[in-house]
Amino acid sequence: MCYNQIIAALWPPERMSVFMQQHEIWKIIDERQEDLIRFCQDIIRIPSENPPGDVEDVTKFICDFLDTYHIPYEIVRPVPGCPNILATFGKKGGKRVVFNGHCDVVPAGDESKWDFPPYSGEIKDGRILGRGTSDMKCGLASSLFAIAMLAQHNAELSGEILYTIVPDEETGGYHGTQWLFEHGYIKGDWGIVPEPTGFDNIEVGQKGNLGIHLTLTGRSAHGSLAPYVGQSAVEDMMELCQALKELREIHGSYDGEIAQVMEVSKQAIRNIQKAPGVDNCMDHVTVNFGVIQGGTKYNMVADSCQVDIDCRVPIGVDGEQVQEKVAEIVERLGLTDRCKAEYRGGRTGNYCSINDPIVLSARRCAKELMDIDLIAAYQWASSDTRYFREAGISTIQYGPSNAEGIHTYNETVDVKDVVSACKMYAGMILDLIG
Ligand SMILES: [Zn+2]
Repeated sequence: MCYNQIIAALWPPERMSVFMQQHEIWKIIDERQEDLIRFCQDIIRIPSENPPGDVEDVTKFICDFLDTYHIPYEIVRPVPGCPNILATFGKKGGKRVVFNGHCDVVPAGDESKWDFPPYSGEIKDGRILGRGTSDMKCGLASSLFAIAMLAQHNAELSGEILYTIVPDEETGGYHGTQWLFEHGYIKGDWGIVPEPTGFDNIEVGQKGNLGIHLTLTGRSAHGSLAPYVGQSAVEDMMELCQALKELREIHGSYDGEIAQVMEVSKQAIRNIQKAPGVDNCMDHVTVNFGVIQGGTKYNMVADSCQVDIDCRVPIGVDGEQVQEKVAEIVERLGLTDRCKAEYRGGRTGNYCSINDPIVLSARRCAKELMDIDLIAAYQWASSDTRYFREAGISTIQYGPSNAEGIHTYNETVDVKDVVSACKMYAGMILDLIG
């Protein structure tokens, strides 16, 4: 079946009332645009940097918003200082759409490097300015606003929305999304994560994370006797790191739908990053030697050296395969007895089918609202969305963003993208459980 036939089968003419409700809610969102943007500005003005991870003020602010629109919620705290909000709206017993947003942001860092105060929330040249605008407070605010508008106008849903607002995505999600899944709080049929993607594309898959921590042991001696006496852990680590670049040759091979989306994703990263060969980040293992520490003093032969490596594992490659290759390289260099390897994560990539109703709904809404063909692509980074897909929930990421400022200085988002995103969320909810 071609795309149009699939759409026609999923949304036959008797769904006309859903279409009408969508146009009605889109009109309401247009009329309430100022309130939506003020909500975004207000949430930007509440710093919630992680680390250290204090999100109490922003959580209180969001709860006040939910109270205003009579949306019920509960707060669960796996540990003190880590509040998770679980808000629900709609009818129990039907299909369930789960939204997931994080309210923490990465630190602003050196404020002198910003062109504007990071927590001003000002609007300039059609953009909202500040830390968290793209990642992901405006995605969070616009999706909450979409639900608030449905609630205020008594939208009749055949299913339920669960919104989980989590405190710690920027430090791994251990007391947020991961904990909620482990303790049975998140169950559903579809997931929407308003993480930054830009108005014209959705994320339908992402790479896995594998952290590698290696410790090499040497034998100390007077520096003047190297390399004849003692065994330098620093020098051996230099050789080991050089050899570990071979991990970058590990890649996935694809056919069918995944091959098709992979090709689109490679084109997308080439357009954004403009660095030769950067599209290898999509289907190959990437290796970043992030931190290296070793030795005691320049005139002593180093008896210890450690390296922290960030590997990203593509869809179709298992983290185990990377670990086996590390062990093989360590053995080849004769370092097995002196090298200790520790791993974090180790997941493979995750994805959802582009023919899933949630993807088709996003594409249909984008066509209807903005007259664009939404691009469905994989991302080279990863997020809390992995927990959803690992739990078997078909999930997409879609959120307003300008890529330049994310996790660096001068973060912004376009006002018009925030409004469109809000309408997209409302439209998708009505498509799926209207
Ligand atoms: Zn984020």
